[in-house]
Amino acid sequence: MTVTDPGARAAAERAGRELEDASALEILGWAAETFQEQFCVTSSMEDAVVAHLAARVRPGVDVVFLDTGYHFPETLGTRDAVAAVMDVNVITLAPPRTVAEQDAELGPALHDRDPDRCCALRKVEPLRRGLAGYRAWATGLRRDESPTRAGTPVVGWDERRGKVKIAPIARWTQRDVDAYVAEHGVLTNPLLDDGYASVGCAPCTRRVAAGEDARAGRWAGRGKTECGLHG
Ligand code: SF4
Repeated sequence: MTVTDPGARAAAERAGRELEDASALEILGWAAETFQEQFCVTSSMEDAVVAHLAARVRPGVDVVFLDTGYHFPETLGTRDAVAAVMDVNVITLAPPRTVAEQDAELGPALHDRDPDRCCALRKVEPLRRGLAGYRAWATGLRRDESPTRAGTPVVGWDERRGKVKIAPIARWTQRDVDAYVAEHGVLTNPLLDDGYASVGCAPCTRRVAAGEDARAGRWAGRGKTECGLHG
């Protein structure tokens, strides 16, 4: 399903062009001022970089986390630490069915048999419902993460949800992220220091080898590179 709003789409795309060379803080400042409480950040809790940036321009900003039921304990621990020490409002979304209920209904390990359906049930649909009250959401997408993300605009139109989608660090490199984390003491998922370059659900995430694409460890061998949240 898509949500067509030509005026809002044109405005978002215009903002994307105007903010292409702006800093992450300037982009988030524009978003916070434009959308106020109808703006949120989503976080996979791989790190808290975008949440940290957003809290600088909008203290207490909503940070939405999707708890699929399949996360590593380290990811849930990062979520809890972010909620405890940062000036943000962490909101945890969960799918309507627990993993046990999904297994009972559709059989065990749906992630191995049909990962697209598993992501649709445990990520895409819960996020659609969770974002219903917002007009704009920010993500940590970066152009250097993979070829599928190379064209990410800093501000664009999320056709599927009918919302403005903001990628304030789209132009950053991994080196920029590392420098920001070091400079500001930003919380990061401990798995990043344990061979994982990108952290998702435990059954669908493996460590990467030196020189591999950062997202090579996601759904490895299953012909899938994205969960569907950013399609
Ligand atoms: Fe399911 Fe894997 Fe998608 Fe998580 S990443 S929702 S376990 S298929």
